[in-house]
Amino acid sequence: MSRLSAIRGMNDILPDATPRWQQLETALKSLMQRYGYREIRLPVVEPTALFKRAIGEVTDIVEKEMYCFEDRSGESITLRPEGTAGCVRACLEHGLTHNQSPKLWYTGPMFRYERPQKGRYRQFHQFGIETFGQAGADMDAELIILTARLWRELGLSDAVTLELNSLGELDARAAFRQALVTYLEQFRTQLDDDSQRRLTTNPLRILDSKDQNTQAILRDAPQLADYLDDGSKAHFAELCAHLDACGVRYRINPNLVRGLDYYNKTVFEWVTTALGAQGTVCAGGRYDGLVAQLGGQATPAVGCAMGLERLVLLMDAVAASTAEAEADVFVMGLGEGTSTAALALCEQLHNALPNARIVYNCGGGSVKSQFRKADKSGATVALVLGESEVAAHTVAVKWLREQREQVTCTQAQVADVVRDALAMSTQ
Ligand code: ATP
Ligand code: MG
Repeated sequence: MSRLSAIRGMNDILPDATPRWQQLETALKSLMQRYGYREIRLPVVEPTALFKRAIGEVTDIVEKEMYCFEDRSGESITLRPEGTAGCVRACLEHGLTHNQSPKLWYTGPMFRYERPQKGRYRQFHQFGIETFGQAGADMDAELIILTARLWRELGLSDAVTLELNSLGELDARAAFRQALVTYLEQFRTQLDDDSQRRLTTNPLRILDSKDQNTQAILRDAPQLADYLDDGSKAHFAELCAHLDACGVRYRINPNLVRGLDYYNKTVFEWVTTALGAQGTVCAGGRYDGLVAQLGGQATPAVGCAMGLERLVLLMDAVAASTAEAEADVFVMGLGEGTSTAALALCEQLHNALPNARIVYNCGGGSVKSQFRKADKSGATVALVLGESEVAAHTVAVKWLREQREQVTCTQAQVADVVRDALAMSTQ
């Protein structure tokens, strides 16, 4: 009988991986507690209509990524593709935003029917933060500042950068949208296929097209910044001032628009170059219109969501690049009768370089397996003694961390060569 396997794009997270997940989840929960945010737990399925209304009919998510089903009574239900819509629904249903300004977080699986690849899955996990009732830029700032602290606590600060933009109020955006469409219509046939389709559905998304030709056409397009209303401009300036004061660095990216319809004013993304194309690890913004759009009283709101798979990948990548090396020098004998010479060489080096960590590979092994061990040890150089080196009283020196030709030196010279190599690699 054939064995069953998991559904494409839906991952098992195995015991070797769970410690990293737990480390991330613990850091997130601790952070939320220290900033006075409270947890909310939400259903994994919601009525399909909720997402259509909240996210927007013509967004990528609603158009082609949702897992929709009919349940046994014929109601259309959807596995949640994101958490904001459900969170707003729950707040309205339970009156949480009535005379209160809750700061909330949630975490759990989300579902999108996308093409699976590294950092992009059909079931993935988000940690989301949503705040309600605060219209001021101090709220946007706090949200960004606390995510910056998270990166520091996880050792990821050097691996991520913050991109920031303002979309303005809905009216300003609509005026810009019209101007953009009018401009792009002239070049319709030269745009990439996706952008041609978006011209009538979601033209703002054309701004972050990866197509070179489309980007060239966009160079002379109307700029969103020129359409911003004064209120949004002032809000954005205030946000930037808060971030400056708290030492959070950012890059203003005028093409950052985000894929969901409900954003206004601030949008931001934390991005990394370490994960290839799936570089956004946290994304968010202000959505002052959504609560009213879902039937509540007008309530300003701002939130963000992090992709936990991408953060785990990033933590692994950073850990791998900074892993504590166990050795400086890895010594290996290759072939019959080389171990005596290798041991003697190690002793010579321990005498000459008392602070260096010199690891001798007992038991020999194939070239491949010894080099694998050498690499894993974190050593800067490998010293190789084959039968010909032993006969000639020489050593082959191989650099393991940089592109550099292997050299052969005499055993009398080797201590000096190693001393130089180690001094260089610690610069
Ligand atoms: P992308 O541009 O990468 O498709 P998005 O704009 O669709 O992202 P959001 O809806 O803002 O993403 O979701 C917030 C975060 O959730 C993303 O920044 C990313 O880290 C993560 N995320 C989104 N979709 C996926 C997915 N299919 N697999 C894994 N993580 C995802
Ligand atoms: Mg997406």
